[in-house]
Amino acid sequence: MELIDGKLISATIKDELKDKVEKLKNEGITGSLAVIQVGNDPASSIYVKNKKKACEYIGIGSVSYELAENTTEEKLLGVISDLNKRRDIIGILVQLPLPASISEDRILEAIDPSKDVDGFHPVNVGKLCIGHKGFVSCTPAGVIQLLKRSNVDIAGKHCVIVGRSNIVGKPMSLLMLKENATVTVCHSRTKDLAGITSQADILIVAMGKPEFIKAEHVKEGAVVIDVGIHRKEDGKMCGDVDFEAVKDKASKITPVPGGVGPMTIAMLMNNCVESLENLKED
Ligand code: NDP
Repeated sequence: MELIDGKLISATIKDELKDKVEKLKNEGITGSLAVIQVGNDPASSIYVKNKKKACEYIGIGSVSYELAENTTEEKLLGVISDLNKRRDIIGILVQLPLPASISEDRILEAIDPSKDVDGFHPVNVGKLCIGHKGFVSCTPAGVIQLLKRSNVDIAGKHCVIVGRSNIVGKPMSLLMLKENATVTVCHSRTKDLAGITSQADILIVAMGKPEFIKAEHVKEGAVVIDVGIHRKEDGKMCGDVDFEAVKDKASKITPVPGGVGPMTIAMLMNNCVESLENLKED
């Protein structure tokens, strides 16, 4: 079994991006990511801090908006509208989840698709669906990089994805199709899950169920990508895959932590750099 080292691969990507940002700077192209947080959920605050740190590392600016928990939808829409108009802002990121009083759909749809570095706007999702260039949701884009940079051949392989969420499972299936895999998507109503997952050459799990995937779910020699992140009662992290049970059957596998997790921010930075590069074409 070979471990797929997401920490190392994400660090390499960030270094490549740092070089690109430097070159763009020399051509006079700069810009900042705007990060908006509503309320002060501690987990969100950590994510926001890490995103700002990554911006600093690759050399792009970041401006943050910390809005009170009781901020109205109108006020937030106003902030987004202002940021949409600013040429120095190359990306707008609204940290989710938002308070229940605010419609996430309305907020995400208000972001200019050309600044939607999270890749959640319906225009970008549609572009992904029909194979046009646009921003791709960061976690599934990160999985593709993990596979490619670990020399996993995707074309012609049977890829089974467990989970069909809008942010992971669905875009993941579209990206694997684009890479010419034969794709099967499983969900909570799938019958005989193990019967299907055990046919996968590449198994990607994003179900949000700690250590659910056991040896019986995995074919001998499969590549296993675990998107899940959970904190166990003993404080340790785990994924949706029971790593100890599966590791000897898999040919390559991502650990949790240190697998898919670090890739998400690296791909967010990749989208920010793409946005900067798009300025050249304007
Ligand atoms: P969601 O809860 O939105 O989706 C879970 C999916 O899994 C659903 O499609 C659901 O099916 C399916 N599912 C649930 N139970 C079963 C089951 N018993 N059998 C088959 N399918 C099942 O989760 P997300 O996609 O947002 O996230 C998935 C995991 O990935 C979570 O642990 C999350 O924390 C993690 N995550 C990690 C990220 C990272 O940066 N590494 C980023 C985003 C998420 P149905 O549609 O029928 O309900």
